[in-house]
Formats: sequence, structure tokens, C-alpha cells
Amino acid sequence: MTQQGKAFAIIAITVFLCCLLGILTRPLSFLAFFWPANAALLAIFLRFPQLNNAGGWIGAFTAYMTADLLTGNGFDLTFFLSLSNLLNVSVSLFFINYFQINYRNYNKGFTFLYLFAICAFAGCLAGAAFAVFTIPHVPNTFMSADRFWIDFGMWWTGELVNAILIIPLILSMPTLSELKLAFHERRHKQYPLSHIFPLIAIFICVLMTYFLAGPGALLYPLAALIWAALTYRLFSVAVINFAVLLATYHSLNQFYLSESSSAYLSTSISVRIGLFMLSLAPLILCIISQNRHELFKQVLYLANHDSLTLAMTRRYFFQQSELLMQNAKRHPFSIIMLDIDHFKNLNDQHGHYAGDLVLQHFARIVQHNLRNNDLFARIGGEEFVIFLQNVQLQEARAIAERIRAITENSPISIHNKAPLHITVSIGIMHHNFTEQKTLQNLINNADNALYQAKKQGRNQVASFNSPVFSSAIQL
Ligand code: GH3
Ligand code: MG
Ligand code: MG
Repeated sequence: MTQQGKAFAIIAITVFLCCLLGILTRPLSFLAFFWPANAALLAIFLRFPQLNNAGGWIGAFTAYMTADLLTGNGFDLTFFLSLSNLLNVSVSLFFINYFQINYRNYNKGFTFLYLFAICAFAGCLAGAAFAVFTIPHVPNTFMSADRFWIDFGMWWTGELVNAILIIPLILSMPTLSELKLAFHERRHKQYPLSHIFPLIAIFICVLMTYFLAGPGALLYPLAALIWAALTYRLFSVAVINFAVLLATYHSLNQFYLSESSSAYLSTSISVRIGLFMLSLAPLILCIISQNRHELFKQVLYLANHDSLTLAMTRRYFFQQSELLMQNAKRHPFSIIMLDIDHFKNLNDQHGHYAGDLVLQHFARIVQHNLRNNDLFARIGGEEFVIFLQNVQLQEARAIAERIRAITENSPISIHNKAPLHITVSIGIMHHNFTEQKTLQNLINNADNALYQAKKQGRNQVASFNSPVFSSAIQL
């Protein structure tokens, strides 16, 4: 199928289903404004720009027309409705492109604010256009001249509410791979019970809008929504917003219908604008808070890792190792010191840049040969240290020997020059809790073993625990 044909089919089916949903929910009075088709079409064009072609637009027009004609509207009215819907989406898209608002940058701050300001403007324009089309030709259907401002206000605020209900859902919906990752994380990460408190708070606040009904009810969920926005991811906040908006609209409508049915329409307009604002606030807050959280994680990573080799910094290594030692519960572990041989010569002969590349190359070799929960840090120029958790001396020796052999057998080529061969000397200190030692003691012992390895000719592994070396070292 061509790109155009594919766009036609996907858009036609989606818009048709959205229209049917809108038409079918009309009899549920509080949902009379629910018309997800326009917002869904706009969000789909934004998220999947490859569908925004002639085929997609013709598909949308066909779907709007078919849905209304099939459910009994006259041709003229259906045609004007479809035109206004398309006008709304195309004007929104035009301004989003004109102001270069990239929704993928939504985590940069106020993109959603601009996006919804544009939607509000386009909805207003489409409402006005619909009035111009229908009042002379098909009067007293959706809009009539004598109640123009009320009819127009209901149309426009309906568009606003639909935009804030639907667009964030589609734009923030996780992709399949993101979903898999989230499920994976959920299985490995323990969330505290307090993680669901914001959700419970929202539920209670929305219930209160029914039992303590009144004009102030519009703001009951605000604090809980802010709490949720600071706790959950954007998609979850969009889903929560969706439910809160519908439920609060329902309870407020019931209240105003029972109070004064004559003022119902004008209060409905004000309630809808209020709900639009109520939903916008947590969305913007959630995006900004996630953005800050991401930045904080990046800064923390940079503070704790060496920028050249991405190994841990000395300080972070000490901090994490102390923690592991406290929790080791007498499981034996090993400290391994590594030092690249004759590195100064390499720097002198091939330059500092080549030296840096060698350091990166070596750090990659070590990382590939460690388990996820082992610690690996750069403690100085070409000196590194490893904390191997829960291992016996034999295993630690085998790991060190493997790193030594791979380093020797993995020459690094730099800019088409002859490959550089490097070797590494390694010292091991194994700790099995037979005596009390501090981390610094253990590192000193590993360093002594490393010194032995250097002394004995380099490119070898020495262990502080081995009787041959330890008797020599401890002298
Ligand atoms: P040995 O076999 O005894 O370990 O000798 P060596 O030359 O490797 O040891 P030495 O301590 O004498 O030299 C280490 C050199 O590492 C000196 C310094 O110029 C270099 N160095 C330290 N940090 C960096 C770095 O970030 N990049 C590069 N390219 N070189 C560095
Ligand atoms: Mg060295
Ligand atoms: Mg050194």
C-alpha cells in the first residue's frame, strides 16, 4: 500500500471510530461535549507526521462525513460540521508549525502551554466559521442567532475540553519498547506504599465534589493533582487528568442543574473553562518536574563518574564500597588494583590523545568483564580499582587474569597507525572477615600486591593473600 493509501486507511478508521464514540455518548447528557475526533486527529498528525499527507486529510474528511450521515444528520449540516472540524485541525497545525513548537520538546518546559493556547485559538476560529456556515443555511441546529453567544461558547469550550482530554494522552502514550522497559523496571524496582497516596487523595477529592457540591468543588482536586504531577510520569498524569475532568464535570453539572436549570448553559461554559485550566496546570508541572529530575540525574552521574572513562570517581567508589562492606554480612569480597604498564612511555611516544584513547579502551575491557553489581573506579591517571562482591579468592583471581589476558591481546588502533599493544599489572586483596580491616587497609594491601606484580616484571596478577607474595610483602 502506498504511503497515501496507508494514511487514508489509518486516519479514516481512527477518526470514524472517534466520531462514533462522540455521537454515541451524546445522549449521556454530561458527555454531550465529548467529541474526541478533532483532538485525536491533531495529536496523531503531530505524533506521526508521516500520516499528515493528502491521503490522511481525505481519510479524515470521509470519516467525518460518513459518521454523521450514517447516524442521521442532513447533508448540509454534516458538510459544515466536517469543514469546521478540519478547519480547527488545520489552523492548529499551521500555527504549531509556524511557531516551530515541537511537542517532542515538551520536556523543555512550556510547550504544552503554547500548544493549548493555539488549540484554544483554532477552536474559537472553527466555532465562528461554523456559525457563519450554519446560521444562514441550516438555522436552529447546533447554533441559532438568538442564543448565539451561548451556542458559540458551548462549542468553543467543548473544543477546549476535548483538546486537554485527548491530546496529552496521545502525545505521551508510551511506545511498545518504552512499555516493556517500564514493566521491566517495575519488576526490579520496589515502590513504597506511599507511591499510591496521591492517587488515593485524588479519588477522595473527586468524591468530595459529589458530597460537598458547590462552586468551589472545581478546585477540590487541585492539590492532589499537583501531588500526582510531582510523583507520576506524564502519561499517568494525562490518564488521571482525563478521569478527574470527566468526574468533576459530571458532579458540577449535577449541582448546577439542580440549582438553576436556566443558568445551566452559561455556568457550563464557565465550568468547562475552569476544568481546562485545572487540567493544564498539572500537565505543565509534571513536565517541568520530570525535566528537572532528568537534569538532576545527569548532574549526579557526572559528579560520580570520570568523564574520560565513565568509571566511578574515587569519592563515589569509597562511598559505595563502604556501604557494600556494611551490608556484606560476612560474604567474602575482593579489592583489585590495576595499573597500566609503562603508560608514561606510551604518552611520550604517541601523545596524550593516544593515551586518553587507551584509557577509554582499557576501561571498556574491564567493564565488559565485570558483573552489574561490581564497582569499578578510576583512582588516578592510569590506576583503577575494582570491588568484587561476594566472591571467593579463586574467582577473583580468574576475573583478574581474564582482564589481564584480554588487555594483552586487544591492541588498539588509532588513526590507521600500527596497533598499540598494552599490558596491565594487577594486585588482589581478598577479604574473608578473618580479621577486622578498613577499606583503606584493604586498598593498601591490594596496592602492595600490585607493587609486587610490577616488581616481578609487569603484565601479571599478584595476590596479597598468596603465601609467596604475602610473606614477601609483609616483611
Ligand atoms: P608503570 O609500568 O610502573 O606503571 O609505569 P607508568 O609509566 O605506567 O607509570 P607512571 O606513574 O610513571 O606514569 C603514569 C603516567 O600517566 C604519567 C601521566 O602523564 C599519565 N597520565 C595521567 N593521567 C592521564 C590522563 O588522563 N591521560 C593521559 N593520556 N595520560 C595520563
Ligand atoms: Mg602505570
Ligand atoms: Mg601508576
